[in-house]
Amino acid sequence: MKYIGAHVSASGGVFNAPKNAHDIGATAFALFTKNQRRWDAKPLDDNTIRKFKAACMRYKIQSQNILPHDSYLINLGHPETEALEKSRNAFLDEMQRCEQLGLTLLNFHPGSHLKKLSENDCLKRIAESINIALQQTSSVSAIIENTAGQGTNLGYRFEHLAKIIEQVDDKQRVGVCIDTCHTFTAGYDLRGMAATEATFKEYSDVVGFEYLRAMHINDSKVPFASRVDRHAPLGEGEIGWDCFEFIMKDKRFNEIPLILETTDESLWPQEISRLKQWSAAD
Ligand SMILES: [Zn+2]
Ligand SMILES: [Zn+2]
Repeated sequence: MKYIGAHVSASGGVFNAPKNAHDIGATAFALFTKNQRRWDAKPLDDNTIRKFKAACMRYKIQSQNILPHDSYLINLGHPETEALEKSRNAFLDEMQRCEQLGLTLLNFHPGSHLKKLSENDCLKRIAESINIALQQTSSVSAIIENTAGQGTNLGYRFEHLAKIIEQVDDKQRVGVCIDTCHTFTAGYDLRGMAATEATFKEYSDVVGFEYLRAMHINDSKVPFASRVDRHAPLGEGEIGWDCFEFIMKDKRFNEIPLILETTDESLWPQEISRLKQWSAAD
């Protein structure tokens, strides 16, 4: 089965997200469990947790298809001790919020070296940060997202993801989320079926589908290999529909959340129904 959704609003409370997903025809969704532009957040109270779990039950969306995203402020590879500590604490808090909500995945961007660390040292630091968070939690997995490679962000090569995973102690609780826009602007071609197949072959060889726990399904407003992160509605960007048709028809993308982060929310119901048509066969 394919589980398709979008990064929906949790405004008014996280318990509103499942209904927001259901209303657009989604069977998966992503959300922020706190304000993504702030460090602090008030703890989740029992009532909020109860209402969230009830809403997920009601709309029949399981935790394996719900993909919380952490705060944009967190940098698990920060070169400076104090800032790294702050990020690690915030990341642990995000993981604990997921556990409280009964969620099993936490999606995050690996981190940035800020030109003060080598790529390898930064990747090592990111893996250490993941290890620290996993040691203090029990049921949530760390889901590393590949990036466009904007600025000094790491994660723009599949090798970066592999290098982090290699250094994570608990392999059962680490996975990846592949964002099609980021993949494309990082320099992996996704234009047409043959290019898409080759790119996922490379992914399979370098990282492996056993680690694929989620996808972000986005077209790209900016050109191939531009190392810039700008999403576009499906079919309206530089990637085009073939890549999305390929994913929907390929069983290796079954049973994981396939999440739209496209820029025009009013198109989500249409985008989801078009994707669903291709996946109907499996
Ligand atoms: Zn993404
Ligand atoms: Zn992006």
